[in-house]
Amino acid sequence: MASLLRGAPVAEELTEELACRVAALSHQGVTPTLAIVRVGERPDDLSYERAALKRAEKVGVAIQRIVLPCACSQADVIAAVERISLDDAVHGCLVFRPLPASIEEDAVAAALDPAKDVDGMTAGSLFGVFAGRQIGYPPCTAEAAIELIERSHIALAGANVCVIGRSLVIGKPVSLMLQARHATVTMCHTRTRDLAAHCRAADIVVVAAGAPGLLDASCVRAGQTIVDVGINWDEAAGKLVGDVAFDEVEPIVANITPVPGGIGSVTTSILMKHVVEAAERAAMK
Ligand code: NAD
Repeated sequence: MASLLRGAPVAEELTEELACRVAALSHQGVTPTLAIVRVGERPDDLSYERAALKRAEKVGVAIQRIVLPCACSQADVIAAVERISLDDAVHGCLVFRPLPASIEEDAVAAALDPAKDVDGMTAGSLFGVFAGRQIGYPPCTAEAAIELIERSHIALAGANVCVIGRSLVIGKPVSLMLQARHATVTMCHTRTRDLAAHCRAADIVVVAAGAPGLLDASCVRAGQTIVDVGINWDEAAGKLVGDVAFDEVEPIVANITPVPGGIGSVTTSILMKHVVEAAERAAMK
């Protein structure tokens, strides 16, 4: 039976640490502030917004909400983001994605100051991840996966890690961040031959494919750590599931993140960590 790597204790640990940093900032007269830009009323955005508001309150981060109607133009979104980029009282900006099809995300990202890009949407942030430089911030989910592994005291240096998925939001940044921590990383995707063999060869598997049940018993062996980033709605079961066939994998491996209750629970704490860091960096200027 595997140890469950739950997100909640990690989120609480982070929250306590951040609350201390927020107190130190408030002695300097600074309130870390996050602007959330939401277009329309997508249920996923609303649910993440609620979770972010709750976490922000615990940490002591102030939130400004900018809500635009679904029918707004690209120029409206860019204008909102430009205002945030120029506002010294706002330290971080989260733009909910995907934006409506009529709005180019790259054009919106170009209007955001990378120093306030707390969810890795700008070219500056992605370059920061690529080059290991302090420019912007990595996507929160990618960092949540790393944070959960590290805070669970699972060694990354020298470990063989198999990452399934190569998106800009998770697969690619998480692979680079693992490499920066001295892991040996194998990136797998839809064209990978013999995915199961790559997974079995790894010490740690991070799966972010959006494919329920992809990682089954044939892909794992005893002693491994499995990090399931996937979030999928299982219509038949009427519940959220990850990319791992949990019931058959959990009895075999050493450690596994549950879905829900794993990576997803750490993500909003990472968002707050980025906002606090952005406020600290701005205060040092
Ligand atoms: P995406 O669709 O952009 O990318 C998926 C990647 O997985 C692609 O690179 C694709 O090559 C690979 N892939 C898909 N099916 C595969 C298969 N059968 N075999 C091998 N590789 C395969 O998705 P994304 O935005 O990276 O998100 C991935 C998953 O993570 C989704 O389930 C999403 O809902 C979830 N997610 C979770 C959080 C969180 O907080 N836990 C946040 C964002 C996304």
